[in-house]
Amino acid sequence: MGDSWTTIQLQRLKELNASQEILEMNFTESIIRDRMFQKVEHQLVNQGKTKLNLLRLEKRRPALLELENQLAETLRKEGFVQVITPTIISKVSLAKMTISDDHPLFNQVFWLDEKRCLRPMLAPNLYTLWKDLNRLWKKPIRIFEIGTCYRKESQGSQHLNEFTMLNVTELGTSLEQRHQRLKEMVDWAMNAAGIENYELITESSVVYGDTVDVMKDEIELGSGAMGPHFLDEKWGIFEPWVGIGFGLERLLMIREGTHNVQSIARSLTYLDGVRLNIK
Ligand code: ATP
Ligand code: MG
Repeated sequence: MGDSWTTIQLQRLKELNASQEILEMNFTESIIRDRMFQKVEHQLVNQGKTKLNLLRLEKRRPALLELENQLAETLRKEGFVQVITPTIISKVSLAKMTISDDHPLFNQVFWLDEKRCLRPMLAPNLYTLWKDLNRLWKKPIRIFEIGTCYRKESQGSQHLNEFTMLNVTELGTSLEQRHQRLKEMVDWAMNAAGIENYELITESSVVYGDTVDVMKDEIELGSGAMGPHFLDEKWGIFEPWVGIGFGLERLLMIREGTHNVQSIARSLTYLDGVRLNIK
């Protein structure tokens, strides 16, 4: 075993999105390592510049927005209506999700004042729309939203304070078809995102009903649920339903093989995955 990269070198290589193979390199002498570092850094900076040029001249929008569009297009083709709802929600609607003082998510909520906060999830707004659309439209009601959600997180490579959630829902699914429908929703999202070989983990709970997590490489990409659910009556909903939420930055992280969600998220230090402190 020889020397590996210094902590500072390793940090820089990760910023520049070096491959795992590069990160795991070993060297017999530190002088060889340092020379290799210069060479690799130079190459990665050039790759970043090429990617930025491509963005400027051809793509014209970052992968996160591209993915948002691909997902939305797929779901609209499947008959789902895209909706857009407020990012500022009321304390009352959070409480209807039973997110009150003793809930784990409660401490993660960004409060604006005593009555309002930034939404940590899309579900309260979608429940609200369901109730009206249920009166106005024939079932099944198929709606989805893609939008920013906010949670106080102690960072880490998979968590952002503001991330992009996709929530697909269908109200009025027949009881027997719920699992199949959820599976279809997962397949549509994964196809649109270009992700293969994901795993579905189903758990049954008396209180929450069945939940389905979508996993890949031990990372949670999405979480689904179905009704009848104990929350439904608070929202005036009495029909069976299915719904699932995905984090778009996590989908991208898995597809692009980046080291963290920060590099492809809303950012001022990265643009479309490229660290901007390069020359
Ligand atoms: P985790 O256990 O990984 O913190 P969660 O179970 O709290 O996630 P959900 O409430 O199930 O998250 O949200 C649905 C999806 O939104 C998650 O599967 C994940 O892809 C994404 N997500 C949740 N929190 C974050 C975050 N802070 N940053 C980025 N993506 C997130
Ligand atoms: Mg989850």
